[in-house]
Amino acid sequence: MKIYNGTAATSGRRLDSEMLKYLGVIGFPLRRSLSPAFQQAALDDLRLDIVYEAWPTPTDALQTRITTLRSPTVLGANVTIPHKEAVVAMLHEVDEVASRIGAVNTIVNREGRLFGYNTDVSGLMRALRDDGGFGPAGRRVVIAGAGGAARAAAAGLMEAGAASVTVINRTLSRANRVVEDLRTYADQSELRALPEMYASWAAVMGSCDLLLNCTSAGSAGFDSESSIPIDLIGSRMLVCDLIYDPAETRLMAKARKRGARVLGGLPMLVYQGAASFELWTGQKAPIDKMFEAARSALEAAKAGK
Ligand code: NAP
Repeated sequence: MKIYNGTAATSGRRLDSEMLKYLGVIGFPLRRSLSPAFQQAALDDLRLDIVYEAWPTPTDALQTRITTLRSPTVLGANVTIPHKEAVVAMLHEVDEVASRIGAVNTIVNREGRLFGYNTDVSGLMRALRDDGGFGPAGRRVVIAGAGGAARAAAAGLMEAGAASVTVINRTLSRANRVVEDLRTYADQSELRALPEMYASWAAVMGSCDLLLNCTSAGSAGFDSESSIPIDLIGSRMLVCDLIYDPAETRLMAKARKRGARVLGGLPMLVYQGAASFELWTGQKAPIDKMFEAARSALEAAKAGK
């Protein structure tokens, strides 16, 4: 049960209303976020008097929402679609990784000053390593998409020594912007943008070690599927779909049939959330509890509960 005004309890536990602090996720429309479920499970596991809420925020209300984070009762927030890039300019300080990527997914309130971080990078790198058995050094990567997630992925993979990163996006100008903005990472990696057309995929998929879907196409409630050509997927690849709802996307199912190894977006989601949790609380995140709660919330959403 969620608590409000300190009068009820989460997970059956009484909270001290005098000490109560707040965290939340800022996005729009924020219909299917799993963060409140798994962050609250972690907070409850450590018996912290903190409530994690969903804060749906349309673009015209974003600045006001960010200002409210400076309250002494608010520890910080996560930021998700579509605000990760827009919040950068609204914060007092942004750490080096988030600033180079141009996207923030975690805000920490330190005595009224707001600090921005990007834990998507470490979350993805941990998921690839621990759950995908993938080491980026010297490997060739193809990224579908050019939004905040694609930026984080490209930066993290180049930082970890990927030999090449190709960004393919429906809107080519956006992919070109990613390449421009991340040029500082590209001293050792080859980085390029290509338009979303069959010839582009055909040019890079033959030597691809890691294919990442960083588009929203294929997610639950979305009316279009990924346009990555399945016939070009080979058994040497790891295919990672950042989408976590559904747990197995059509892209993953089809890639599996072609003999590729596949990884969904849930591990990245939990690891980026765990890194945010550690920034807010200074305590080690209970990862197993977070996975358990995220999977239950996903199951409940699937069952329409
Ligand atoms: P975003 O900034 O809104 O970018 C969306 C991207 O998807 C853009 O490149 C967009 O292309 C592309 N796109 C949207 N609809 C498309 C379609 N029908 N066909 C082809 N491309 C399409 O979003 P984001 O923050 O990067 O997130 C992208 C996805 O990653 C979302 O599904 C999100 O849930 C997921 N994600 C997961 C995690 C995780 O922890 N697992 C973390 C971050 C994000 P245009 O530029 O042409 O519009």
